[in-house]
Amino acid sequence: MFNAIVIEKAVSGTQAKLKALNESELAQGDLLVDVVASTLNYKDALAITGKAPVVKSFPMVPGIDLVGRVSKSSDANYQVGDLVLVNGFGIGEKYWGGLAEKASLSSAWVIPLPKPFSAHQAMAIGTAGYTAMLSVMALQQHGIQKQDGEILVTGANGGVGSFAISLLSQLGYSVAASTGRPEESDYLQSLGACRIIDRCELSQAAKPLQKEQWAGVVDCVGSHTLANALAATRYGGAVTACGLAQGMDLPASVAPFILRGVTLYGIDSVMQPLAKRKQAWQQLAELFDAAKLTSISREISLSDCIATAESLLKGHIRGRVVVNLEK
Ligand code: NDP
Repeated sequence: MFNAIVIEKAVSGTQAKLKALNESELAQGDLLVDVVASTLNYKDALAITGKAPVVKSFPMVPGIDLVGRVSKSSDANYQVGDLVLVNGFGIGEKYWGGLAEKASLSSAWVIPLPKPFSAHQAMAIGTAGYTAMLSVMALQQHGIQKQDGEILVTGANGGVGSFAISLLSQLGYSVAASTGRPEESDYLQSLGACRIIDRCELSQAAKPLQKEQWAGVVDCVGSHTLANALAATRYGGAVTACGLAQGMDLPASVAPFILRGVTLYGIDSVMQPLAKRKQAWQQLAELFDAAKLTSISREISLSDCIATAESLLKGHIRGRVVVNLEK
């Protein structure tokens, strides 16, 4: 038997519980792992609380990220005892995920735990940090240089936002952080933000074109915020869109695209091919700062996950939550 968070259909909506499951209930993957650590992402919180239709089949074990120690393998590339990392690929949505003491995986989803990270550190980064890295890589590949001007990060106190600020500042970019929690300004500045913006300035309906401010944008928020970010991006600049914390809509005009040549990059972490994942984790390893990672993350146990998911959606959690499955 092993413990897991299990989401089941209820009379109205869904219900998440901590339950003991039998190993025979796991799907037949080519890797069986003892989960060492997982995380609580925004998407996991939506799944656990049932606030959005993240879960595609029931019962479901949530958890879109995990580090596991291989206990059975029918893939010659992985041996018993190896530590492996999964971000996305449908775990916690279509396939049972990381908020459990055991998981059955396809070897097509995993990469070896990248050096120099411990399981805890990789989960402190998790999908949030890896998505922030993909966003920063898109701006770099667009050719944005540090001397081109400020980069705006929205949803600054969230997991993706916190990592984006830290990564951009380590790369020498000047970062403006948009937040609804100005009381966390010291924290955002400690991550490397040069300027704090009240998110109210960006959350109302946008004029199609505004004063050119941003060389690039990492947007985690969507809706009016993304529209305002696009409208104030400099000629030839780029904006990445990964999130929908304000909303799924995009009430924008084409003016920034056709008059300023602005480019909007969509960022998806879930189905990203393995080669790009490895590249992102390689760059994360190069920029890795253990002290900053500690200040961004805190640890909980499996039994804390349901309550913490509620707090996360209320915007009460700063940075990243690591779930220790060996506690
Ligand atoms: P978090 O919950 O950690 O952070 C979201 C942040 O958004 C909050 O901390 C808050 O920042 C801000 N925010 C919340 N509500 C609003 C609002 N109504 N208006 C404006 N800002 C708001 O989530 P993550 O950082 O983990 O994820 C951010 C987004 O990215 C989510 O929508 C998530 O689903 C998405 N995502 C997408 C991925 C992909 O592959 N495309 C992968 C990972 C995440 P503050 O308090 O500073 O204002």
